[in-house]
Amino acid sequence: LYLKRIETKDDTLNAFTEVDKIGSIEQAKKVDARLAAGEALHILAGIPLAIKDNICRQGVSTTAGSTLLRKHLSTYDAEVVSGLKARDCVLLGQTNMDEFGMGNTTETGLGPPTRNPWNASHVPGGSSGGSAAAVAAQMCAGALGSDTGGSIRQPASFCGVVGLKPTYGTVSRHGLVAYCSSFDTIGPIGPTVEDVSYLFQAIKGDLKSMKYDTSLRRSGDRKPLSFLEESQLPSRPLQGRRFAVIAEALGPGVSTEVRSAFLESVKHIEGIGGIVDLVTSRTFQRGLPAYYVIALSEASSNLARFDGTRFGSASFTQQILESYTELRQDTLGEEVRRRILMGTYMLSSGYSDEYYTRAKCAQKQVCDELVGYLSNYDALLTPATPDLAYIVGEKTKNPLQMYAGDLMTVNINLSGLPAIVVRSCEPESNPSQRLPIGIQFIGKHFCENELLEIAHTFE
Ligand code: GLN
Repeated sequence: LYLKRIETKDDTLNAFTEVDKIGSIEQAKKVDARLAAGEALHILAGIPLAIKDNICRQGVSTTAGSTLLRKHLSTYDAEVVSGLKARDCVLLGQTNMDEFGMGNTTETGLGPPTRNPWNASHVPGGSSGGSAAAVAAQMCAGALGSDTGGSIRQPASFCGVVGLKPTYGTVSRHGLVAYCSSFDTIGPIGPTVEDVSYLFQAIKGDLKSMKYDTSLRRSGDRKPLSFLEESQLPSRPLQGRRFAVIAEALGPGVSTEVRSAFLESVKHIEGIGGIVDLVTSRTFQRGLPAYYVIALSEASSNLARFDGTRFGSASFTQQILESYTELRQDTLGEEVRRRILMGTYMLSSGYSDEYYTRAKCAQKQVCDELVGYLSNYDALLTPATPDLAYIVGEKTKNPLQMYAGDLMTVNINLSGLPAIVVRSCEPESNPSQRLPIGIQFIGKHFCENELLEIAHTFE
């Protein structure tokens, strides 16, 4: 069924970069046979999933959306992929993304831009736009994305699905093509909070297997996810829960549709028992510039490995430096080259104090303030994005406007907190564009389960 849908829909949507038809059918048959033989399998066994193309799968090409990695075949499975395979999931294929995760439209990857399933003249968001579009168009039951500054949450919002960015370090980054290592986080995208919860349980690390230095040796929140067992919710399920709306997240630059959808959701939260306060933030606006300084600095260093020897293939017919330059000039896209140049400049001697060190100070201020609020509230609330999904091509010519679209999401990466985006407004409520709108719930470090409970109740 899912492969059929991919066949009929993906020519227009371009959500997948590669579909493993034979492998998927084989795996599904194996699961069927084991079930028929009476074997008790994991709840995710046989579930068809899609994987963002910057997460390694052994024997499958992992391009991170870049021409430089066009011919790159992974020699091993990322730890999250091993987790899904161990639970007998069916991995349908790899999904489209912005090159190296740099962007929020899924227009700069390999091949044609991915389209928003709700309205094909609009983008699905990015950089995990292929994963979000595949879930929204029911071409898979769930998907993995990566979130450095919003790349799971923003496309989830644009495509009307659920996206979870876990606490930094709870999910192993082993096998993820690095963009900005201190923010990169793998997380699930699914049609409902319940789906995302099952996927999160399957990919989060456990004590024995974390293969990455910056993965945390703890499995996160131990609070049970009671809603996975209970079918009936009480009538005022958020009774006694306290929420804070960050006032600056409703300031200038936020579209009227987004603002009114958000306020409707706040009313709904209050209607089911939640207490919602308005708080003002001194640091909210500092997040975006700090994010771009840190992300680009780390990217310039991380991407140095793509030199044509270890990854990509340079011709080496000339001096070594010229060969590197030629390869990177010819195979890296404009946005990626712009970011490497800016990152290198910001780290260079004489400038790093002015940019990098100041950005790290701002990062601490943003983090301290958010964590401070979370000592008084169960979750913080903001819209997921300042605007609805853009028209295809609208932002590519203006990088600064594109960066401004990350206003709601980057502070969460600066602080390592978990956050989830769920649908706050149906596409039908704005008939002119027919696009969904998302709301973001921000939780305490390691309290994903509490956050999932709240989001499930809201949904
Ligand atoms: N849009 C942001 C950026 O370009 C975030 C991307 C991401 O989370 N991978 O950096």
